[in-house]
Amino acid sequence: MSIPSEIAHCQYHPRAAAGWFCPACDAKLCPDCAVLESVASTDLLSCARCGGAVEEFKVHRSHAPFSRRLLGTWSYPLRKSGLLALLAVGAVVAMSRGLASILPFVPGLILLTIWLGSFWGSLFWIVRGTAMGAEHFTAPDFHDVHHDLVSPAIRGTVATALIWVPAVLFIWNADETNGSIAMFAVMVLATVLYAPMALLFAATGQGTLSLLNPFKVIGIGMRLGRAYLVVAAWMVPLALLHLVLMFVAGKVSSLSIPLLPSVVGEALSLYVPFVMARMLGLLLYVHGDRVGYGVDSEFYEPALPGVKPRGKKRAARVPAQAQPEAIRPRVIELEPEPAPRPAATPEPLEVQVVKAVETNALDRALELYRRLPEAPAPLPAASHVAVGQKAASVGDYPLAVRALKQVAQHSPEDPLAPKACVILARLYGERLGDEASALKLYRHVVGRYPGTDAARFAQSRLTPA
Ligand SMILES: [Zn+2]
Ligand SMILES: [Zn+2]
Repeated sequence: MSIPSEIAHCQYHPRAAAGWFCPACDAKLCPDCAVLESVASTDLLSCARCGGAVEEFKVHRSHAPFSRRLLGTWSYPLRKSGLLALLAVGAVVAMSRGLASILPFVPGLILLTIWLGSFWGSLFWIVRGTAMGAEHFTAPDFHDVHHDLVSPAIRGTVATALIWVPAVLFIWNADETNGSIAMFAVMVLATVLYAPMALLFAATGQGTLSLLNPFKVIGIGMRLGRAYLVVAAWMVPLALLHLVLMFVAGKVSSLSIPLLPSVVGEALSLYVPFVMARMLGLLLYVHGDRVGYGVDSEFYEPALPGVKPRGKKRAARVPAQAQPEAIRPRVIELEPEPAPRPAATPEPLEVQVVKAVETNALDRALELYRRLPEAPAPLPAASHVAVGQKAASVGDYPLAVRALKQVAQHSPEDPLAPKACVILARLYGERLGDEASALKLYRHVVGRYPGTDAARFAQSRLTPA
């Protein structure tokens, strides 16, 4: 895959975006210039110009404007799954926080841990899920008090501890600086720049002690570059909105009805943290390869996702510029589409999965894959990996594990195998809370596929910074 990251246009239709590449013509092709054809129940992609085999054209995730992706984060907590999560986490926080303040020390401390743990745990869950391509919030499974509550509570607190240093220093030196506005502005700027890095660092499971090392934390921000600054800039309006929401939450919580107002109040005050976590996750989703988070090839996606080639095989002597769509009278559009001709014999499920993956119909591929028997006829590793990644992004972790395991177990020689193992390990470690299986897989990748991108990443997960 040699892929430039800018948007490419069709060699023959300079206004159309290219989704395929023809090595024979050395040309990028739009959907009208690529042909999809079924031969002996296998889908073949070819070039409408020369008939040669074409490849899907892939671009780096960063080719889509990052600022547009960031705008989408505002609605993330407002979708159905997000609202449910706001209320659920809000309820846990409201109850544990309310009780922690009135109970004696030891049970109070436990409730404090539940409060901080559910707060930070849900934020880290959003960051890591988004980094893996999750489209919406999926409920975390809770199985381990240390892993799911204590550790997030500690990491969140430690990571944010350094954020308060500038403020503390400012107050400490208040006499000398004598309320200098410029000094205060520098402090605020330092906080805005530092906070996202520290949280990103905490969310990705770096060692707790290294959270206190500003050099390591700043390194992450430096490598993320401009995209990082964009996210940091967003923190300012978000923080202002947060103040407004906290004010509203305070008003709501003081209503003299038990419980419900405080749950709604906590949910309101979680909105901005959820948006921030989604933004940080997107940073990793798009630019994680710059900080060694993930395998490089994961960061390339089809240039025209979900678009099928619609070119026709070139008939002899037909002028290439004849565009039938353009001259068709408008009236015809009102007529019903002719029903597709039913296939003579239904194709085996396996073949349908492969086809769906090849034409990028991943939702369909997922649906078909679910219906496959546990031990299906051998599929290409690429189909398993595509299904595994898609399943992970929609939160169907058992299916993702099943698909990726197929590659790890049955096609260990395939060039995609190391990548499949690493994604599987991340699913175990970051989604399913099975740290032991994750470490085992990372060690396997390091030993079995030395020198690969995947091994480099696996090594970095085995030796936390
Ligand atoms: Zn074209
Ligand atoms: Zn060609």
